[in-house]
Formats: sequence, structure tokens, C-alpha cells
Amino acid sequence: MSAAERRARSQLAQLLSQRAVIRGTLLVRKRKCGKPNCRCARGEGHENLFLVISENGRARQFFVPKDWESRVRLWVEDYHRARELLEEISRIYWDKVRNRQD
Ligand SMILES: [Zn+2]
Repeated sequence: MSAAERRARSQLAQLLSQRAVIRGTLLVRKRKCGKPNCRCARGEGHENLFLVISENGRARQFFVPKDWESRVRLWVEDYHRARELLEEISRIYWDKVRNRQD
């Protein structure tokens, strides 16, 4: 096993054993709450974070409460990092197949 493969495998294993992962994208939407005296009535609206996930070709959105934002952002980032590492390992094996190398 090459040093690059070993590194990618151990980073992926560590990530999956210690962190959570979420597939999805984060979307900030501005919404007016409807209260006539709120500052948002004249301004741009409150910023709300949504997690958009697509499953079987259907997109769904979940509201992310303020106190969940930082952990959900981290989980989404960690999913991307895990995907990158998996791709890195996969590329090594594409080359093995292409070069008929054990
Ligand atoms: Zn408001």
C-alpha cells in the first residue's frame, strides 16, 4: 500500500469513527416573520438556515435551528471531506485496474 493510500484510509477511518456526516447543502433564506412592528417588516427579513437534501430525485428542506447551525455545518463539511477521501482511494484503484497492478 502506498503512503498516499495509507494516509487517505486512516483519515477516512478516523473521520467516520469520530464525527457525524450529513449529505446535503445548506441554504440561507430570508423570511419576514409577519409581525408588523418587527424590524424585518421594512428590511430584508430574518436569515434562516435550511438543510436541503435530495433523496430518490426529490429535494426536501429542513429548517436548522440557530443552536444547531454550527454542528450541522460541521457535519456537512465532514461529509464532503469523507467524499474527497473516498474519491482519492477510488482513484488509486482505478489506476490499479487500468495498469493491471495488484
Ligand atoms: Zn421579523
